[in-house]
Order: sequence, then C-alpha cells, then structure tokens
Amino acid sequence: MEWIIATLLLALVVSLVWGWRQRTRTQQPPSLPESSPDAFSSLFHAAAVAFDDGLVLVDVDRRVRYLNAQAEELLNLNRTMSVGQGLIALARDYQVDALVEEAISSAEPRESIFQPLGRQRMLRLRAVPLDHGTQGALLLVRDVTQLSQLERSRRDLVANVSHELRTPLASIKLLVETLQSEPPAPVAQRMLSQIAQEVDAITQLVEELHELSQIESGRVALQLVPTPVAPLIERAIERIRPQLERKNLQITARVPDHLPHALIDENRIGQVLLNLLHNASKFTPDGGRVTIEADVITIGNGSPAPPGMPLSHLPGQWLLVSVTDNGIGIPANDLSRIFERFYKVDRARTRNAGGTGLGLAIAKHLVEGHGGRIWALSVEGEGSTFYLTLPVS
Ligand code: ADP
Repeated sequence: MEWIIATLLLALVVSLVWGWRQRTRTQQPPSLPESSPDAFSSLFHAAAVAFDDGLVLVDVDRRVRYLNAQAEELLNLNRTMSVGQGLIALARDYQVDALVEEAISSAEPRESIFQPLGRQRMLRLRAVPLDHGTQGALLLVRDVTQLSQLERSRRDLVANVSHELRTPLASIKLLVETLQSEPPAPVAQRMLSQIAQEVDAITQLVEELHELSQIESGRVALQLVPTPVAPLIERAIERIRPQLERKNLQITARVPDHLPHALIDENRIGQVLLNLLHNASKFTPDGGRVTIEADVITIGNGSPAPPGMPLSHLPGQWLLVSVTDNGIGIPANDLSRIFERFYKVDRARTRNAGGTGLGLAIAKHLVEGHGGRIWALSVEGEGSTFYLTLPVS
C-alpha cells in the first residue's frame, strides 16, 4: 500500500519537476512544490503530509528542493534552512549523500539502513532517481527502529534456544554412548536418572518458551477476581517448603491482617510468587533466610515510593509484595537485565542451580498484565529483594 502511494508520489514529483523546469527557464521559484500553483502541487502536498515516511526531493546537484515534516523530524533537519541547501550539509552524513549520488549517477534506485549519529534510531533510506537521474532524486526515509529491534530479538531468541538445548542434548548423547558400552548395572542406573534429569530440563525450557509466547502474543486471558493475599502467599510457601527444608532455609511471612483483596488472576500471581521463592531458595546458601511480606501502599499524592520503584508506576492504592533473601545477590550491572528473556547473571555461577532464565521474563509479563510492576534491589554477596505491586480490588 505504501509503495503504491510512493509510486503515485513519484509520478507527481516527476510531473512537478518537469513543470518546474519549464518555469525556471523564465523565473526562479524558491522551492519546487510551493511554487507550483496547479492541482498537482496541492495533491503532492496532501500526499506528502499524509505519508508516514520522510520525503526529500533533491535536484541533480543534490540540493534540497522539498522535504516534508516527517523527513525533517527523522533526519533532524531544520526545514526553513533546508530548502536550497546541499544534502550533505543538512544530513551531516556522507552516507545519505552518497546513496542519493549513487541513485542519480546509476539511474537505479538505491537502499540502505542508516543510524543517525548520536541517535538510537534506525532509518531505512531509499533513493529513487527522477527521470533517470537527470531531474535529481526522491529520498524516502522510513523509521525501522522497531522492526530492527524485533529482528534482533528474533535472532537472539534462536541463538539462546539453541544454546540452551545444546548443553542437555550433548550430555544425553554422551550418556547414551556410555550406556551402549554396557557399564555395570549401578552405573547404568545412575546414567539413566541423569538422562531423565536432562530431559526434564529440556521439557521445562519448551514449556516456559511456549508459555512466554502465549503471554507475549496476548493469548493468555487473565481471570481477574478479588483475592485475599495471605492464603495465596501461604500456598506458595507450602509448595516451596520441601526445597527450603532440603537447604535448611528459614522462611518468614509477614502479612498484616485485614489487607484489602487484590484484583488478580490467582493462579498466575501464585505462579509469580512461586518463581520468586524458588529463585530465593536457589540462590541462597544452606542455612540462609527468606522473607515474604505484603502491605498496602499509596503511590503518588506525596507518599514516599518504595525503594527502586519504576517511575512508570501508576498512582493510587496498591498491594506491595516483596521476597527477600540473604543469598548470593546480583551484581549492579546485571540488575536491570534479569527480567530479559534468557538472562542469567553468570552462567558459570548458576550452572548447577539449573533454570532457563525465562522465569522472571514471564513474571514481568504477568505482573504488568495486571497493571503492576516488578523490580529488584540487590547487594552482591548480601542478598536480594524482589518487589511486585498488585491492584487493590
Ligand atoms: P532462572 O530460571 O535462571 O532462575 P530467572 O528468569 O528466574 O531464570 O532469573 C534470571 C536470573 O536472575 C537467574 O539466572 C539469576 O542469575 C538471577 N536471579 C534471580 N533471582 C535471584 C536471586 N534471588 N538471587 C540472586 N540472583 C537471582
């Protein structure tokens, strides 16, 4: 659709340039479309304004003859100063000028991806020669930042999944080969249970990936019901208790009486709490302490915000739940990244702990799906606190 509009624009531009050339033989208009009083000119303006892409029209010497507001914004130009100036002086980047120059001299369209200096943006530039380049060129500028981020995260996902699968598959292969050499029965038994563990790890990865993709594609509908928080916390603790006891960890829950109900999907938030408790126990050495607390808080209205709360938090009354451990902690540099898919602080450090690096990414989606936020504070070597907010019913 956009390319149809682009072609239409191109046809308009060619006719305008032609008209302008005829006129410039007798007079000097300030810039091309403004100087064309005919129907084409107003059609051109209407199309250029409605168009999502930036549009720059240059003459054969690559002097700017016209640009729309989108081009001005995308290329960070000053429109009043731009008309009549050379493209290189305006775009302050040889890449843009070289692309247009190539399109004009070769009489072929040229395309490239361009990252303006000092900006996080990715732009796709397409230079189309006008009348085989004899009339200059039309430069179309499209913001593809989001597209390239998507592309990068797709590539990262494939790389991460294959990395996560390679390790268990390699050890299964090794174990099977050893079993084929018929080791003594007790050794074979041990190997079989190692194989079962590796298969469990792969199954967990596949299940979490599936869940994440369901959540990300919006196919998980939350069943929001007013829910008392204390029993929810109690159930999560009961589920994690065997793991806590195995490591001799002490758990404390602090939930005041008469806390307002939370408006949540009980199963989903139960899953988030379980994940946080599971991590707390996984990353806390034997004999450590884990504490889970809940309280009602007011955000905004001059009330002090909980430590580290993201600025994007909505004001109002919320339930704040926190899970604190005195375990290995998280280095400051990693803290902001642990909610990313597959992010693990230090693979060597956490290898024995197991885990896919997907748990917190899923938790973030679920909490934000409720309108709340999840974040963490930590001191390496001393412990971590994970906070999450839930809407009050
Ligand atoms: P995993 O399946 O690896 O636990 P998560 O997404 O739940 O994945 O956690 C991501 C990473 O964050 C973990 O691998 C670990 O490095 C770090 N992490 C999470 N919770 C804690 C914690 N309580 N203490 C220390 N590090 C933690």
